[in-house]
Amino acid sequence: MDNTMIMREDQSDADLAFMDEAVLMAEEALHAKEIPVGCVLVHDGRIVARGRNRTNEGRNATLHAEFDALRHLLPDRSHSVTPQLVRPFTPQLDDVLAVSGGANDPAQRKVWQTPLKGVALYVTVEPCLMCASAMRQVGIDKVFYGCANDRFGGTGGVQSIHSDPRLLYAPPYPAVGGYRREEAIMLLRRFYISENTSAPNPKRKNNRVLKTDIPEVAPSRSPSLASRSSTPNLAPPSPAPAPLAPAIPTI
Ligand SMILES: [Zn+2]
Repeated sequence: MDNTMIMREDQSDADLAFMDEAVLMAEEALHAKEIPVGCVLVHDGRIVARGRNRTNEGRNATLHAEFDALRHLLPDRSHSVTPQLVRPFTPQLDDVLAVSGGANDPAQRKVWQTPLKGVALYVTVEPCLMCASAMRQVGIDKVFYGCANDRFGGTGGVQSIHSDPRLLYAPPYPAVGGYRREEAIMLLRRFYISENTSAPNPKRKNNRVLKTDIPEVAPSRSPSLASRSSTPNLAPPSPAPAPLAPAIPTI
């Protein structure tokens, strides 16, 4: 749809270093026979949480890498101490009233004091619709991702939840892709070419060959047609069946 991609020469060393850490998490997911998506959350120049896909391990379709990382930050019953950077998760009454009262007047509109202001997400694959929405609700500052997700992407791949002005409750955030994109795609290919032993009816894929060519991606905002061609359908003839529906691109 409308992914924003950044060329390699415009990517900072610091951002690449954080994405390298996300790639490591994705590799851990691959070794655990999970769809290889990994991420880190960064605050004040340091990693404050790491996550990877655990949908099979947790028997929980919401345990995408982003949620895995978030649960280390957001307070819940298992955390006796809430990290200092996390503000109360529940919006205060004043905030809610301000949102509803200012709905027809953008100048009066006020957003919730979201809990993760100042935190950036680095994730190997564009966040899905669910995660893109969650990131907005917790007030993430910015999202950096590897490859686009043209099946489930919520930051331009399918819809642009990160920037949709109709969502009044939380501020929009920028999302930029292209960081370690090739590595992210190759991890997904390695997963799909291997036999998914946790699937209900594992398919033999011994005859499949790992593709290594990565199509170039157009810089910045691509028209929808160009965007589509930058993320071609490189999936095997039939994607590996998984016990829990994965939200990942077909690459
Ligand atoms: Zn997701």
